[in-house]
Amino acid sequence: MEFKRNIIITGGAGFIGSHVVRLFVNKYPEYHIINLDKLTYAGNLANLKDIENKPNYSFVKADICDFDKMYALMQEEHVDGIIHLAAESHVDRSIKDPFTFARTNVMGTLSLLQAAKLYWESLPTPYMFSSSQGELERVLFYHISTDEVYGALEMTHPEGIPAPFTTKASSGKNHEAYGEDFFTEDLKYMPHSPYSASKASSDHFVRAFHDTYGMPTIVTNCSNNYGPYQFPEKLIPLFINNIRHRKPLPVYGKGENVRDWLYVEDHARAIDVIFHKGNIADTYNIGGFNEWKNIDIIKVVINTVDRLLGRQEGEDMDLITYVTDRLGHDKRYAIDSRKLQAELGWEPSLQFEEGIEKTVKWYLDNQEWMDNVTSGDYQQYYEKMYKDR
Ligand code: NAD
Repeated sequence: MEFKRNIIITGGAGFIGSHVVRLFVNKYPEYHIINLDKLTYAGNLANLKDIENKPNYSFVKADICDFDKMYALMQEEHVDGIIHLAAESHVDRSIKDPFTFARTNVMGTLSLLQAAKLYWESLPTPYMFSSSQGELERVLFYHISTDEVYGALEMTHPEGIPAPFTTKASSGKNHEAYGEDFFTEDLKYMPHSPYSASKASSDHFVRAFHDTYGMPTIVTNCSNNYGPYQFPEKLIPLFINNIRHRKPLPVYGKGENVRDWLYVEDHARAIDVIFHKGNIADTYNIGGFNEWKNIDIIKVVINTVDRLLGRQEGEDMDLITYVTDRLGHDKRYAIDSRKLQAELGWEPSLQFEEGIEKTVKWYLDNQEWMDNVTSGDYQQYYEKMYKDR
């Protein structure tokens, strides 16, 4: 079957990647979507059961560090777009094992970039496509990154001030900001954790491939995502599952750290818009102006799980267990996504409390998915991480 475009999405079996794959497969039947994933502990093909038999979807099990395989695949598939999400993504794991993060996030991204560059240079025609605005340069390598590369912002207002900007995501109860500053695209990188250092390095390599070789690249930096199919080592699915089983909820420090939260499908929608309309060599921040202290999110999650399980709302608050803070725990992340909103017209579609309700309901309705994921290796990891706290 002849497709209009052949697109590799790396890390498509992971949390965000599976939502991006699903969106592209369903929205663009004329595109061939190749999900390339190593299937680490975080990669799970069960995340894509609903689309796995679609004619425009295929899966390739491979490691992005395998340069020869990456180059061969790009040639075989006549690839004309790479959306790169594959990564080691959990900060706690990066603190225990930084080498794995350097290998995948830095060397893996570099191997994929170098393969893409050689492939791109071998193409007979320039990398353009026609649109109603005439010939446009098409992005070859779209790199997905995190707001954590910018470092940490000051909590100048720990009690909260009215947020200067809002979006649909922040249109519910919480309109607060916890400081005046936001991460903007021109901010200097100041990563603190091995995870964010490895992502910062990969972002620099992507930009260097544009600046040095002229390769058409885009980088985006997004805030914390939440939603279905997230591996339950991350705060929201971990806590939903623990509340369900009435297990302790380990909260770092006093739970005062602040993050901006975005529903994962809104991130996938942003990736779609930027992949098709973003300016080559640009950076776009993606976020919801939706700041929350961890402890406040945890309370919303407890109330929601309790209500949906028919328990008395808030009756599981005593599961909250404060544990020693994460090493080098960044205080506040708050991302400024006004450029993306103004230039490309994207904005979040879901209000935060609605998103949490939808998310909790999904995990409670998909207990088999959760039970499968939380058995075996993951369980051992969990025991190891939390036994000495
Ligand atoms: P995830 O851990 O759920 O998924 C990562 C996927 O990458 C898994 O399917 C895994 O099997 C695959 N992978 C790992 N190493 C690989 C390798 N060497 N070769 C091929 N595949 C490999 O991660 P996520 O939360 O979905 O994050 C996806 C991307 O988005 C990452 O680049 C992350 O840095 C970025 N990001 C995540 C968030 C968030 O809140 N989760 C926010 C902003 C940006």
